[in-house]
Amino acid sequence: MMRILIVEDERKAADYLHKGLSESGYVCDTAARGDDGLHLALTEPFDLVILDVMLPGRDGWSVLSSLRRAGRETPVLMLTARDAVEDRVKGLETGADDYLVKPFAFSELLARVRSILRRGPARQPDVLQVADLEIDLPRHRASRAGQRLDLTPKEFALLTLLARRQGEVLTRTIISELVWEMNFDSDTNVVDVAVRRLRTKVDDPFAQKLIRTVRGVGYVLETS
Ligand code: CA
Repeated sequence: MMRILIVEDERKAADYLHKGLSESGYVCDTAARGDDGLHLALTEPFDLVILDVMLPGRDGWSVLSSLRRAGRETPVLMLTARDAVEDRVKGLETGADDYLVKPFAFSELLARVRSILRRGPARQPDVLQVADLEIDLPRHRASRAGQRLDLTPKEFALLTLLARRQGEVLTRTIISELVWEMNFDSDTNVVDVAVRRLRTKVDDPFAQKLIRTVRGVGYVLETS
């Protein structure tokens, strides 16, 4: 039985998540304040924490970094506000496992929850390695075959996302939502343009291509 902690101060949203996740077979606890949430996450065994960013007592980022500093590797799904572009980039470094931009459909949340729980409890390492590609998250540096890649912050975030989900095809919608402040109706062409630019830096100078286009679906970073 999987246990999920929901840290959300908006009562309606918390109830909605609690009800939906319980119906899907998860055992849920809720906290309405950041400090209470952190206390629970540190003292009880949870398989996943769903963490809102804007919280009384302590914000979601503070809860997340305290949890990680305490050595807890419980997966964390952050709920970010639509206007907080920086959050996604910031969170990729702070140790969040995934994000969801509010407002979201419950089906989307459930899909993310299942995917995180499938990946298991191991937190992502500080350095991601795929073939000769190395992404040093704390230093915000990427290199291939020891050669430093000169990336913009968005390109770095995009590459990190693809590398974290190595082998998993990511749709343009997912990419635009996680890396840009965009929703479903937005022009996802921006994703194609960004991936093309990223490729000129990450793949073009090297024999082995890592970023693959899956026609009509999206992109995947993989070694074959
Ligand atoms: Ca809130």
